[in-house]
Amino acid sequence: MPGIVPAGVDLNETNAIVAVDADGRTLFITGLHRKVLTIRTRKTVSRLQVKLEAKKAEGKNTRSVVRVLKRLSLKRSRRTRDFCHCASRHLIEWAPQNCVLVFEDLSFSNKRKKSKKRSKSLNRRLSVWPGGMIRTFATYKVAGKGIAVGIDPAYTSQICSRCGLPGNRSRHSFTCPHCGHTDHSDINAAINIRNRFTVLRDSGVLSTTPEAS
Ligand SMILES: [Zn+2]
Repeated sequence: MPGIVPAGVDLNETNAIVAVDADGRTLFITGLHRKVLTIRTRKTVSRLQVKLEAKKAEGKNTRSVVRVLKRLSLKRSRRTRDFCHCASRHLIEWAPQNCVLVFEDLSFSNKRKKSKKRSKSLNRRLSVWPGGMIRTFATYKVAGKGIAVGIDPAYTSQICSRCGLPGNRSRHSFTCPHCGHTDHSDINAAINIRNRFTVLRDSGVLSTTPEAS
């Protein structure tokens, strides 16, 4: 029977995947390389767009610039897709037998993040951040492997994984002023995602999608 032991999966831009299983075993997959390449491509694209506008204004032929822009855009989406395939494959290989991979509810976390004032550049970065794609690919890849996928109903990165009270998140460190617990902020979030799933499962509220037969 698939999906007995919960493992929490936290998706971020820099630490693309941070997962913690029931035994406290962790998985880190960095997204730093992809992030650097994405920034580099974006700089090239904006330089080319300036060039394109200038050519248009001068009434010159823009075909070559348009062609390069199109090629860059295809390259970027291919790179993102490859990265997501690779990352989700590693996640499935890491996942213990009979495990439920519990992802955070991305729609909820996006809504939450949007309510805060954000810089234009951060907004743009998050708009190309492929968290949803990683989750989708992982959902396909668990088929036949005895692994299930579940969704955590709430965004839990602000809460202490030890005492459940709100703590302080500063870049990659999480500190709790109530119980003194400190941890990597993404691990803290992944533990919360895992624990909340356990609670809901015990109360019989959540239904998972057992892909494996
Ligand atoms: Zn605490």
